[in-house]
Amino acid sequence: MRFFMVMVGLLVVAKAGAWSNHATLAWPQLRDTPELVELQVAAEPLSSFVEAQAAEIVVALEQSEQWAQSYLPAYAPTPSALRPTVSELEEDPLGTFLGAIRVNPQLDYPLFVQLLPPDDQSSMATLGWNDLSFLEAGTSHIHVRYRPLDAGQAVSAADVFATASDEPDHGMDIGLFTDNHTPFGDRYAFGEQPFGNPNLPYGSQAPFHMGFFHLDWLTRKAQPGLLATYPLWRIDLYQRLAEVAFKTQHPYWGWRFMGWAMHYIGDLTQPYHAVPLPGVSTFDALLLVARGKTGEAVQLVSNRHGVLESYQWARVDQLMKAQAWRAPLLQAASVADTSASLTVDDVAGSVTAASVAAASDLDAALERYLPQQWISDPAFEWTGSGLEERVVADVIAQGGAESAAALDAVIAQQLRRFADALKRWVNTGLALQVKPS
Ligand SMILES: [Zn+2]
Repeated sequence: MRFFMVMVGLLVVAKAGAWSNHATLAWPQLRDTPELVELQVAAEPLSSFVEAQAAEIVVALEQSEQWAQSYLPAYAPTPSALRPTVSELEEDPLGTFLGAIRVNPQLDYPLFVQLLPPDDQSSMATLGWNDLSFLEAGTSHIHVRYRPLDAGQAVSAADVFATASDEPDHGMDIGLFTDNHTPFGDRYAFGEQPFGNPNLPYGSQAPFHMGFFHLDWLTRKAQPGLLATYPLWRIDLYQRLAEVAFKTQHPYWGWRFMGWAMHYIGDLTQPYHAVPLPGVSTFDALLLVARGKTGEAVQLVSNRHGVLESYQWARVDQLMKAQAWRAPLLQAASVADTSASLTVDDVAGSVTAASVAAASDLDAALERYLPQQWISDPAFEWTGSGLEERVVADVIAQGGAESAAALDAVIAQQLRRFADALKRWVNTGLALQVKPS
């Protein structure tokens, strides 16, 4: 079983960034949500929110802690030194709060929004990825621009929520484990990283952004580390904090926390975040171990995942820049029409079950419609191949327009699941917002 473990570990390391830029993917739906677009909220520094509502925050943190300890089988409890009193939160609001929610304290958590169409064309002074994150920018972030906000400045809740939904990929969940050798890894008491390579820049966020809730018995037995994931805790925690913010008239933080939670929901609508090895059955995985072919299988799955993301990002970005809102792909990302809400139980259940159900068809489509070298050559590495920027042109050149159309159809299905979860989560936020205190 050791080799199987290595296989999963490598896979997770290779692709923990996923789903490209969440704010962009959410925008086709959000721009069409007047309750958020037309809602102006006042930007507020995190420290002033925490200081003002310290008492309510302490209660919410404690409730989330109790919930996580009883609901999540492999949850590592928050050490008592990090469970703050009201006066501790009031004395050092930012430091104490970031420690209490156990996120990376090396980020500034400043006030900003991502520029989304049509604002992304404007010539206003902006920030780039490097102003906001210590991580290297990938293709889907390198050209993105952000607008800094002043305290008190009015901003659309749609922009706040969309921007926040990408923020957990800025490094919030990087370096939290003991073996990541950060100044805070020991204090946070998450223990050693359960899977993924602890030494690679993006690797350490994997257990926070992936969740395998539908594993078969054998895989659970062979790979207990796969159960030690944290996205459900993040969702619950940020939802409770959003509730505090809404109830106490801090709607900016209400929507920003809801956006943080949305990140994990969005990740889990992706088969590659809900299934350790899409397209590989448990039996086949064990066979690969027996034959010593795990490394090759990992490389193939990893390449397919990488190409899928590059292709999807290139198509969506191209259509968004052209503001082609009626294009089928952007329609797929915006047609969710439901008044249902979304709960953590839904995410652990039906949402991720749908991701699992989509995994093998997705893998089969990639195998069929992508150029052979990309999907069946274990000596090839997609990431950094230099092909990312021309992925669409190459698919058409090698497979014809039918291949591109077939891939669009597969991506549309994923975007539909993403948009549906997004719409339901927005409904959840709207309901929290109007709840009388
Ligand atoms: Zn993520």
